[in-house]
Amino acid sequence: METARAFARIVTNRLSTLLFPPVCVECQSLVSEPGSLCAACWSKVRFIEKPYCPVLGIPFSHDLGAEIMSAEAIADPPPFHRARSVAVYEGAISTMVHQLKYSDRTDLGPWMARWMARAGSELLNECDVIVPVPMHARRFWFRRFNQSAELARNLGRISGKPFEPDALKRIKPTQQQVGLGANERIANVRGAFKVPETQDIKVRGRTVLLVDDVYTTGATVKAAARALLRGGASHVDVLTFGRVLSKELSV
Ligand SMILES: [Zn+2]
Repeated sequence: METARAFARIVTNRLSTLLFPPVCVECQSLVSEPGSLCAACWSKVRFIEKPYCPVLGIPFSHDLGAEIMSAEAIADPPPFHRARSVAVYEGAISTMVHQLKYSDRTDLGPWMARWMARAGSELLNECDVIVPVPMHARRFWFRRFNQSAELARNLGRISGKPFEPDALKRIKPTQQQVGLGANERIANVRGAFKVPETQDIKVRGRTVLLVDDVYTTGATVKAAARALLRGGASHVDVLTFGRVLSKELSV
């Protein structure tokens, strides 16, 4: 029975590959693996690699040594311990986020999570539990899909660490952050998250890896991290797929 099922799965996969050959997410040229990028689009991705600020994870133009923090991290220390992202949010990286979010391209989730596991390997190794940035129940009801939970679920599968989608709740229906200025974003998510009393056992005294699709100004993950710390988490690290860079840091 198992063999028959496995065989049926292989046939279905082959058939869907024949009918829908995998194409590059960005430019639609043929590629070998579904959910991936062609060589040309791949070469344009700006992956975020060291040297970067050990706290905020934003790239430095020069290597200043592992312990040197960015001026931003010193002037406005975030509630989280460390933040890491795969690549700069532009071009193919933003296309992937949009397709996962609005086109139900769940096939992109495992591929994106593999890259997140690589960029955030240290954070993933050290965490006790993986928690996605939640959606408000009303929006979830309409969309039926939370892209951050999809990425976090795949990270749980890759690492074997517990994935806890209910550990954090969005208690205030917030506007979309898109189109809001930095201060409006902070006000919009203030008090938006809470660890429900029934859930605090999942985070109390533990190191939490908070997962979101994109880090823009950090307002959302900072509000979520504060709620997790209030709920008893000992540390919060943040891992996102895309990262908006307002400017490259040069020091
Ligand atoms: Zn391409």
